[in-house]
Amino acid sequence: MAKVLDSKIPAGPVPEKWKEYKAHQRLVNPKNKLKLDVIVVGTGLAGASAAASLGEMGFNVINLCIQDSPRRAHSIAAQGGINAAKCYQNDGDSVYRLFYDTVKGGDYRAREANVYRLAEVSNNIIDQCVAQGVPFAREYGGMLANRSFGGAQVSRTFYAKGQTGQQLLLGAYSSLSCQVNAGKVKLYTRYEMEDVVIVDGRARGIIAKNLVTGKLERFSANAVVIATGGYGNTYFLSTNAMGCNCTAAVQCYRKGAMFANPSYVQIHPTCIPVHGDKQSKLTLMSESLRNDGRIWVPKKIEDAKALQQGTKQGWEIPEEDRDYYLERRYPAFGNLVPRDVASRAAKERCDKGFGVNNTGLAVFLDFSESINRLGLDVIMQRYGNLFEMYEEITDVFPGDVANEINGVKYYKPMMIYPAIHYTMGGIWVDYELQTTIPGLFAIGECNFSDHGANRLGASALMQGLADGYFVLPYTIQNYLADQAVWPKVSTDRPEFDEAEKKVDAEMDRLLNIKGKRSVDSLHKELGHIMWEYVGMGRTAEGLKTGLKKMHDLEKEFDTNLFVPGTKEGLNVELDKAIHLRDFFTMGQLVAFDALSRNESCGGHFREEYQTEEGEAKRDDEHYFYVGCWEYKGKGNEPELSKEPLEYEAIKVQTRNYKN
Ligand SMILES: Cc1cc2nc3c(=O)[nH]c(=O)nc-3n(C[C@H](O)[C@H](O)[C@H](O)COP(=O)(O)OP(=O)(O)OC[C@H]3O[C@@H](n4cnc5c(N)ncnc54)[C@H](O)[C@@H]3O)c2cc1C
Repeated sequence: MAKVLDSKIPAGPVPEKWKEYKAHQRLVNPKNKLKLDVIVVGTGLAGASAAASLGEMGFNVINLCIQDSPRRAHSIAAQGGINAAKCYQNDGDSVYRLFYDTVKGGDYRAREANVYRLAEVSNNIIDQCVAQGVPFAREYGGMLANRSFGGAQVSRTFYAKGQTGQQLLLGAYSSLSCQVNAGKVKLYTRYEMEDVVIVDGRARGIIAKNLVTGKLERFSANAVVIATGGYGNTYFLSTNAMGCNCTAAVQCYRKGAMFANPSYVQIHPTCIPVHGDKQSKLTLMSESLRNDGRIWVPKKIEDAKALQQGTKQGWEIPEEDRDYYLERRYPAFGNLVPRDVASRAAKERCDKGFGVNNTGLAVFLDFSESINRLGLDVIMQRYGNLFEMYEEITDVFPGDVANEINGVKYYKPMMIYPAIHYTMGGIWVDYELQTTIPGLFAIGECNFSDHGANRLGASALMQGLADGYFVLPYTIQNYLADQAVWPKVSTDRPEFDEAEKKVDAEMDRLLNIKGKRSVDSLHKELGHIMWEYVGMGRTAEGLKTGLKKMHDLEKEFDTNLFVPGTKEGLNVELDKAIHLRDFFTMGQLVAFDALSRNESCGGHFREEYQTEEGEAKRDDEHYFYVGCWEYKGKGNEPELSKEPLEYEAIKVQTRNYKN
């Protein structure tokens, strides 16, 4: 019998509750009074902002990351921007509208109250970042500039060229450094959390590996926060940084933290297509490009065939023979439909044979119209670094004129195709961002909280920074207020001994398999299984096959893996093997969740459940809940619990981007 989880708050937007937290914060603020320690794992935008804020509030923070500097966290890759309901464009935006767009964009599978809070604090984030000196783009008159992202009919995305994540991270890093300098944050770079330590049912510390010396170290605190990012790299090929992994989250899951909605995986429509089987990374072309780029494939199948054979080029196809299929299918949102909708539409065209490259798995993203209208200078100001990045990878510069037909100039279009990009699922958290393990919190991409079944563009940075600057620093105090009388536990306790021994034994196990397969070869195979059976189009039959294949491959991993070197000193292969062990757990979890959800919603598309037009068909009667999974041991099916969704402010309806 499935358990029912409670998010601890009424379902609707409840700002009153929010005020309570702020009052509480004043009571327990430890500045000058209490000595409370918090471990924050991760220095991406979520982790760095949380560590800086907690330090500023007077907590003693231990902050760890796997990179050699917090500035190298994966968040640095974010290109396009960050949403906020400032309404600087005077286009009718509001907190309510951002809240509504986000719930609708998530296909009505997000928790309403969390999203409302997110929309409320979105504006504070921009003020905070401007105060830190983040160089957001500005209008000629000095106001902050905006552009549009998918799923919205207003312009609410703040940006710094195509480097928004980097600039926001530098802002957060400067705040963090300030607290390091003040002695409130102790930074541990090149440390990897390997396990969470539970004492009397509460998270009391972690075991981390010093990645340079290979030594295991123990850290104890009054609470633990994980901000360790998403699990997109389970698919091997993704737009995520190579180092992204889900080890910390999976270890928490193994220790009893529930994992919510794992099947909600985002496939981004505008990535550079896969070009061979030696590739280990995919590159995103930011969604911001859809502001001015138009997506198309040929109308005529013979043109598509010629493109695939290389006997014709895109710029030789005149306007009347182009099918701007998003504009045709979704006139109200056009090229700015949400990512899940745009990705499926691209797949649909390519599956019908209209793909435009040699693999048949690509569509065009074309700037001819906007360059003709605005001039190349303006387009370069907006997307210069993205054009250069595209040229570096493909040797095609999208600003080069290639042809002129009937007096109209045609520029070389980009080629794009959907790829794994972001994971909406994550560790289950309540409204206070606490997991099912008391004292363990999860923020940023590694929790499941705000995006439902599909995240809108530019909302991940908003959520990560909302969690880190404005939510967790308040809500964690609700927990700590009750814990303040408890001293920090000693790392000599048996729970720490046991956890450390287990991690050590795991490393020995992996090193001693001494088989024939490299970590990467197994990871690549797992990625193929995930993409083929648990990817963009899922079926019950395919998911069962995928699960069986993953199970077999995991056996191969356990018996035929080869990890060179020893556990002393730096051993990158050993670290990757640990990550892969956890990607196996994660991949199966995604498949179990996808199999249990007999409906299509957002990023989870079950081919059996679609409308005649190929749109996702939800089943609100049976699946209007957050699916929460409990670990039941290796090889066993996890157990499903449900948190029912209750909407008070928004009417649940079928998503419509057509009119
Ligand atoms: C190419 C690209 C472009 C994007 N563009 C945008 C955009 O324009 N707008 C937007 O809103 N979103 C964008 N996103 C999504 C967004 O960047 C991420 O969702 C967000 O940055 C995640 O932040 P985070 O702090 O949760 O995690 P991350 O930035 O992934 O940081 C994770 C941190 O955890 C640490 N860590 C991980 N595991 C461990 C461990 N076991 N022990 C210790 N430390 C650990 C890492 O070292 C790192 O510091 C983009 C994503 C990609 C891939």
